[in-house]
Order: sequence, then C-alpha cells, then structure tokens
Amino acid sequence: SPQDELESIIKAASFAARKHRTQRRKDADASPYINHPLALAEILCSEGSVTDSTVLVAALLHDTVEDTETSLQELEVEFGSVVASVVAEVTDDKSLPKEERKRLQVAKAASKSDAAKLVKLADKISNLRDIASSPPASWSDERRIAYFNWARDVVSGLRGVNPALERVFDQVYDEGLRAI
Ligand code: NDP
Ligand code: ZN
Repeated sequence: SPQDELESIIKAASFAARKHRTQRRKDADASPYINHPLALAEILCSEGSVTDSTVLVAALLHDTVEDTETSLQELEVEFGSVVASVVAEVTDDKSLPKEERKRLQVAKAASKSDAAKLVKLADKISNLRDIASSPPASWSDERRIAYFNWARDVVSGLRGVNPALERVFDQVYDEGLRAI
C-alpha cells in the first residue's frame, strides 16, 4: 500500500543515516555521508519522476553494503529480497583491484536490471555534481576529467530506461566539464 511504501522509504533513510553515521564524503568540508544517498533519492524522485519505492529504497541503501558493515542478509531481513538484490547489483566487489572494479562497472552496466540502472544513473549524476562543485580535496583537474569520462562510459550502458534522467546526466556532464 502507499502507506507501506512511504514507511519503507523513511525506514531506509533512517537505516542509512545510522549505518553511515561515522563516515564523511571526500570534499574539503567532509560533508556527512548521508547527504549522498539522500541526493540519489531526490534526483530519482524530483528529476526522474521515479515513484517505484523499490528503486527509492535501494537508492537510499546503495552504499551501505559497499562502504559499511551492512550485509545483504541484513537488508533482506529489513527490506526484503527484491531491495537486497538491487543493492547487490550496484555493489562493487571490493576484493578486486580498483581498476578492475572500474572496468567491470562499464562492462556490466547494460546487463543490470532496470531498477539497478536507475540507481547507478542517479549515483553518477550525484558524483559528477559533487566533482564539479565540491570535489575530493586532493584531486587534480586531470583526475576530475578522468572520472567524468569513466562515468560517461558507465552511463552509456544504462541508457533506455529513463530519458529525462539521461538528459540530466548529459547536461551535468557537459556543464561540469566546462567548469573544470
Ligand atoms: P575514487 O573511486 O577514488 O573516488 C571517487 C568516488 O568517491 C566516487 O565514485 C564516490 O563513490 C566517492 N566520493 C566521495 N566523496 C566524493 C566527492 N566529494 N565527489 C565525488 N565522489 C566522491 O576515484 P577514481 O579512482 O575513480 O579516480 C578518478 C579517475 O582518476 C579514474 O579514472 C582514475 O583512473 C584516475 N586517477 C586515479 C588515481 C588513483 O590514485 N586512483 C590517480 C590519478 C588518476 P560513491 O558513490 O561510492 O561514494
Ligand atoms: Zn554512491
């Protein structure tokens, strides 16, 4: 029901805030980590007109398994197997070297579910905005540009699900690159 869906969205925001509570983003101000999952949910809802609560919940939880002690089993218990499987699809295997993980994101993007593609597209929009306006403190212009181009290569495998969000990505990419 709409009530249950709203409850799960609020529960996911609260769960993510607790799991990420000690973490900070890499910008100069060391912003609270939770701002980033919240940004994904806002991008999906406000710019992509996404109303599917599975997608919004998965977006709020998308970095909990990769970046905190949260397990997929815990997500399954708290949010169900559908949400847990979408988070699993957007979680990198941290046992692999970083360059291999980045290569796999490009290679696997097109075979993801539509829900995972939406979460990944919002993640890249959020990260490009951050790199344009509040980048990791130590990054050179070359590193920022390299990240933009890698994100564009990932997003080429995510197209065809939400044209409005694809246009948002393209505008953030073009304007962000011009600002670097
Ligand atoms: P990283 O993966 O180290 O850092 C980017 C990630 O950090 C984002 O995907 C995001 O992930 C998270 N993040 C946290 N805070 C911020 C913020 N303020 N702005 C943006 N992202 C943030 O970057 P890369 O290794 O991908 O580096 C970018 C490019 O530079 C690569 O193409 C690489 O080849 C090149 N390069 C890399 C070097 C290296 O030492 N690795 C050195 C020189 C160049 P999440 O959404 O999961 O939070
Ligand atoms: Zn993220």
